[in-house]
Formats: sequence, structure tokens, C-alpha cells
Amino acid sequence: MVKIDKSKVNIPAILGVEGKGGVATKELIELYENGKRDFKTTDFSSKIYGDKTVKALLLGIQHGKCCFCEQKRPCGREGDVEHFRPKTGFQIDNSNVLVKPGYYWLAYDFDNLFYACKVCNQEYKKNFFPLADETKRAYSHHNDLRLEECLIVHPEFDNPEDHIEFVAEIAKPKNNSLKGKTTIELAGLNDNRLADERLKYLKPLLILAPFAREGNQESQEHFKEIGKKEHLFSLMVRCNFPDLV
Ligand SMILES: [Zn+2]
Repeated sequence: MVKIDKSKVNIPAILGVEGKGGVATKELIELYENGKRDFKTTDFSSKIYGDKTVKALLLGIQHGKCCFCEQKRPCGREGDVEHFRPKTGFQIDNSNVLVKPGYYWLAYDFDNLFYACKVCNQEYKKNFFPLADETKRAYSHHNDLRLEECLIVHPEFDNPEDHIEFVAEIAKPKNNSLKGKTTIELAGLNDNRLADERLKYLKPLLILAPFAREGNQESQEHFKEIGKKEHLFSLMVRCNFPDLV
């Protein structure tokens, strides 16, 4: 994971107050005020939050990478526009049931949307949203989200590098960060297939590193480049070669 900066772009028109997303949010809030709690996937329109303008903007900001695993469109498959705070309901962990409603009022909120690959989004993160203190949870649009301290690293408002580091290809919580530990588990950052991909990427770099350290300019330039946030597995590269990036 790397920090994602949305501050330099405008919210896509479709998600604006006057756009379809803004109108749909008002309708969802009205449904809640009329007593609805059992929101279902069908109450939300993927045509709005997953609109091509939203996806293209997120892909641009995220350099084409999944917000969790830092892979670029794995297996050539399209990824999802993922809701950081789940829209229909949330789950604290595997031993707890899905609680409804979820964060229905954030279904079309740009700050809540990220591009994620299908494996990270559908096999791992799903509806998980544990908090450090459950009494601070925002159960409706009336509550203050800022009181919540989520135990999953927020790709925009947290700095993932404060919570997660890599030892070789394996993700570890940094300085015993609970947030890092929970994120690694719930986002599947040490999924075997993913760790294998990282190892494949890491091996030739381990061979190249001594050349860079001995002063080979081409190797040095290569490390400087691939350590940048826009590249594949960049946090792993920075953690493994802090002297070369
Ligand atoms: Zn992913």
C-alpha cells in the first residue's frame, strides 16, 4: 500500500451534489429517515460509483495500481471501485455477523472510493470495517465520521508506510502497529499468490543491488526509478533497498 493523494483532482461530476451520485445519496438518506435499515446491494447503483469517469480518475491517481496490493490490473482483469467504508453493512471480523446498515450515505462519496483489484476487494477486504473503539462508530449520516479510528489503513488519510513494512516479500506490521497487523490480515497482503508475485519481482533486484552499491550508475538509476510510488510493489522496494531508492 502507498498513500493516495486525491487533493489535486476535482470530484467527478457524476458524484457531485448535482450529479446522479448526489441525487442518489439524498434518496438513500430519505430511505433511512423513513425507517429503512436493511440496505442491499441493489439499493446502490454501480453505474454511478463505478462510472468510467470515476474509475479512470482513480486509476490515474493510483497510477493504475490496486490501493491494497500495489499490482497493476492483475491477470489483466478489470478491478472494482471499492468502498473503503462498506455501503450495505459492515463486519468487524470473521467471527462477527454483518451489521446493517453500513455507510449508505458514503456510497457515492469520492473520499470513500478507491480502485482495488478483484482479489483484494472481493476475496479479502469485502465488508470488513473494524474500529479501535466501537463506541465511536458512525451508524448513520447523523454521526461524526471523524471520531472513528478504523483499524484498516486508510489509503488517503493514513500513511500506509507508518503502519506496514516489508521484510523481503513479506508484509509486517511496522513498530507493532495494530492497524498494520489488521490491514495485512483483512486486505490479504500476504496472500500466497501475491507474496509469490512479489518474490518474483524481488529476486532480480537482489542480484542487481550489489552492482548499484558498488557504483554502477545504470543500476543506481534503476533503483531510484522503481522506488517511486507509481511503480509496482514500490513499498516493498523502498523497505528492502532504503539505501538505493
Ligand atoms: Zn489488489
